[in-house]
Amino acid sequence: MPQSDPNNPETPEGCGFLSQFGKSDESTEWHSPAPAGYQRGRTKFVVVIGTVMSGLGKGIFASSLAKLIKDKGLSVAPIKMEGYLNIDSGTLNPYRHGEVFVLSDGCETDMDLGTYERILNQDLTRKNFVTAGQVYTEVLERERRGGYLGRDVQMIPHVTGTVKMRLRELAMTGNNGKQADVVFVEVGGTAGDYENGFYIEALRELAFEEGPESTCFVALTYILEPSILGEQKSKAAQLGIKRLMEAGIQPNIVACRAKNPVTDKVMEKIAMFSNVPLKRVFSMHDRESVYAIPEAMRAGGLDREILSLLNLHDRTSPAKEDVARTEWLDFSRRIFAPRKHRIELGITGKYAALRDAYASIDKAIEHCSIQLSCDVRTRWIDTSELMDDAQTASALDGVQAVIVPGGFGQRGVEGKIRCVKWARTNKVPFLGICLGFQMAVIEFGRSVLGLAGANSTEFEPNCAHPMISELPDQKKLEGIMGGTMRLGTQEVILEPGSLASFLYNGKTEMRERFRHRYEVEPAYIARLQDAGLRFSGRHPKFPIMQMLELPQTMHPYFVGGQFHPELTSRPLAPNPMFMGLVAAAIASREPEFAQTELGRRWVRSAPRAVTTA
Ligand code: GLN
Repeated sequence: MPQSDPNNPETPEGCGFLSQFGKSDESTEWHSPAPAGYQRGRTKFVVVIGTVMSGLGKGIFASSLAKLIKDKGLSVAPIKMEGYLNIDSGTLNPYRHGEVFVLSDGCETDMDLGTYERILNQDLTRKNFVTAGQVYTEVLERERRGGYLGRDVQMIPHVTGTVKMRLRELAMTGNNGKQADVVFVEVGGTAGDYENGFYIEALRELAFEEGPESTCFVALTYILEPSILGEQKSKAAQLGIKRLMEAGIQPNIVACRAKNPVTDKVMEKIAMFSNVPLKRVFSMHDRESVYAIPEAMRAGGLDREILSLLNLHDRTSPAKEDVARTEWLDFSRRIFAPRKHRIELGITGKYAALRDAYASIDKAIEHCSIQLSCDVRTRWIDTSELMDDAQTASALDGVQAVIVPGGFGQRGVEGKIRCVKWARTNKVPFLGICLGFQMAVIEFGRSVLGLAGANSTEFEPNCAHPMISELPDQKKLEGIMGGTMRLGTQEVILEPGSLASFLYNGKTEMRERFRHRYEVEPAYIARLQDAGLRFSGRHPKFPIMQMLELPQTMHPYFVGGQFHPELTSRPLAPNPMFMGLVAAAIASREPEFAQTELGRRWVRSAPRAVTTA
């Protein structure tokens, strides 16, 4: 392909739209930058836009669709577009917006990115997440640097151009630094929202510029079924899709969320009013499990329609698809198979008010429950109501495992410490996550070392024994600025022979994701260790304690991590710390479980497998 030829529509110059920054924008209305070497049409774009209302499971829908395409051997790069002005999700309250999901590179994102990572079994980066705040910041900073050469800076073409640039950059690098086959775009909110309008406009422009067979718009809509009528009504969906069409976007596919299978009559109406052929209108009604969605899409032919619309059939590999599909079907079958074991797990947190705040923990437990064939019941414990040990004991009575999850702020902290104590003294399997790890250190300091004034400086800056504190010098060594958090994937060195090393398959190093500000004060490490608490996971260079445990002589399963193990748990590869917890809980009820194949892998107390010749 020639480098540059204004008469050849196949070249960046000739196709007109790809005017680069630096070219006099006075002379053109275009502002549609692309990375050097970008070629139209090589990467395809699938865009999912919601209509009618939010909360339809757009992230699950888009990630399941991306999975189906990925399973065919194509590389996929998802991107979530948020309409809010925050630069990232770091400052968002999880009780309002759901958990903050931390990516490997430390980017603090929306919980939907967790859904993509889990369903696609693929690590994402900050390139897979964009907010209005990021886009506007980029535009305004460029303006201050004189980057628009005297032009007035406008929503169209400059803000929309910036969005298109982000998409094209992802296209070129979204496959581990290489070009992706398909970029999956999920637009936050619904069509007609004020704040995502510029994304929708940018996507309209993108579709025009990329040319035929490059972009596929999927409208995810909702079919109402009012109980007073007892039948499905399509009007809200029709109006929602019209909002999209008013914005200049003709959907190629309509996916109808609904409680029950969508009737032919409703599908026909939708097809007629939205100019979408009936074969491209799909019923995406409720399923008993989200893991059943990819197969349901496949059975309906949604994946094939996308491949046809984007002319992608040639790039697929039926052999790869067979392997991926067999693995997934086997996994989904196990979800519904009767469970062999049953445990109850106590989690300190208020789940009812905030289903989404612990989404990844919930998923990590689910992954283990499927792998270990265990029916795990969760009991949510509001620790702000636990005023003494007796109340704690009655709140936890009957659970076979306890998780104290991460958190910020003082509320309920003393109750969490009481829960740790209950689990430690009653030898009930325990997992402390981030704040829960810190609580375990403080509880040990108070109860075993007798340091009544032990606390974290997060809660009591002038406490007598600041066992957990902010260590600015330590952070400086790691290159972390001022009051900011330690974020993202870090290496953890595991002590040989420890429970930690046993869980991570005998390895002596592994990587997990962090999000914390405070850590164990090094001055207390030797005393804690002498009294039996082992810091079995450490930073490779600095005295940063990253995992703790009690020896088997003291407790069957008492483990904590300064990181968030739930963030790396995947359906087909659950996180080892959760696996160890659930397995230890099963073994506490059924000792013979330790002798089974799974028990030998996950329960440390199991005698070593003897191999006979
Ligand atoms: N608040 C604690 C800290 O900043 C724990 C953080 C967490 O649990 N994610 O260190």
